[in-house]
Amino acid sequence: MEEPLIERMRVYGETIFAEMTRLAVETESVNLGQGFPDTDGPRSLLENASRHILEGVNQYPPGPGRPELRRAVSRYRSRHYGLDFDPDSEVYVTVGATAGIAASLLSLVERGDEVIVFEPMYDSYAAMISLAGGERRPVALRRDPESGRFTFDPAELRAAVTPRTRLVMVNTPHNPTGTVFTSAELEEIAAVCREHDLIAVTDEVYEFLTFDDRRHVPLASLPGMRERTLSISSVGKMFAVTAWKTGWVTGPEPLVRAVRTVNQFLTFSANGALQLAIADAIEGEGEWIEAQRLSLQGKRDRLAEGLGDAGFDVNVCEGTYFLMADIRPLGYRDGEDLARALPAAAGVAAVPAKVFYDHQDEGRHLLRFAFCKKDEVLDEAVARLRRWHRDAG
Ligand SMILES: *Cc1c(COP(=O)(O)O)cnc(C)c1O
Repeated sequence: MEEPLIERMRVYGETIFAEMTRLAVETESVNLGQGFPDTDGPRSLLENASRHILEGVNQYPPGPGRPELRRAVSRYRSRHYGLDFDPDSEVYVTVGATAGIAASLLSLVERGDEVIVFEPMYDSYAAMISLAGGERRPVALRRDPESGRFTFDPAELRAAVTPRTRLVMVNTPHNPTGTVFTSAELEEIAAVCREHDLIAVTDEVYEFLTFDDRRHVPLASLPGMRERTLSISSVGKMFAVTAWKTGWVTGPEPLVRAVRTVNQFLTFSANGALQLAIADAIEGEGEWIEAQRLSLQGKRDRLAEGLGDAGFDVNVCEGTYFLMADIRPLGYRDGEDLARALPAAAGVAAVPAKVFYDHQDEGRHLLRFAFCKKDEVLDEAVARLRRWHRDAG
């Protein structure tokens, strides 16, 4: 048979994550490649979900989501960010942020439209823009030599706008760089959106995982942005239950209605029992979220120090699950080569950051390490990397 896959999706083969996980298993490596926690979410969340299933919450919930969850989402967005969304028409529950991203891009991007994305970018953005028939206009996040954090050049952002630009995709806190956009950075993006009448789609799955004195600011909270922004969040990172695949989209009614029109034919609805349990956790587990944030901050420091000792140049990380490490001080140039070699050589797996770029040269020298793991797992990875560095040097 000829290749049956539609042409525009043919570049999306097996992801590097699957390959690295396979390598990690074969070599019995510590896998710091994929970003999922190895501890569970709050006990009450797990127990409530089990109870709802046993008590019979097992049929289709309403397509837009259980009202309990939509109300809880509306309340926390109001409480934390001062953003008010009507739980009935401006909050919509999806099968994880992934389906929220898919439905947003498929419902808003017309064939030939351009989408501005910051690179490195989460891998589903590129694939969904392609599936929608749109085109990417990447704007690079680069390490600022003074602060050590990744940021963009506002002039590059402005230069990326063309008459065909439809929307800007924004991820903050940012995977994989760990940057949490400041209000000033967000204002640069907001100004471009307002001037050119663009829609913004924001991926905020790490909204509560920010470190030190950084706090997440939703783009929708900037002047003139509420009416043109769709914000996407998810329970996966919020409560360390990445298998639960339950997320939500908030925004003005016309944008949410667009998402709803497409999503009713993608997944129709998300798991109802989980939605009920999540609604309670959002209301009642604020302390768990804060403890998780502080715990992750400690893990970031633990891994950053270890990677530094092993010879990597570690970038500033203000949020998320990830550290970006520059491999050049170790004498390496290509992160993909090192990522393939590291499991056998050191017993540790990471992800080459270049897979998150359109302009792969921008990220060639970087590896992404996940630190959302038990302390003993991180310590073992660090011990192995130190040994590898010592033996190699
Ligand atoms: C994990 C992740 C997602 C996917 O979230 P799900 O709720 O599991 O679908 C989306 N965006 C970013 C940046 C992520 O890191």
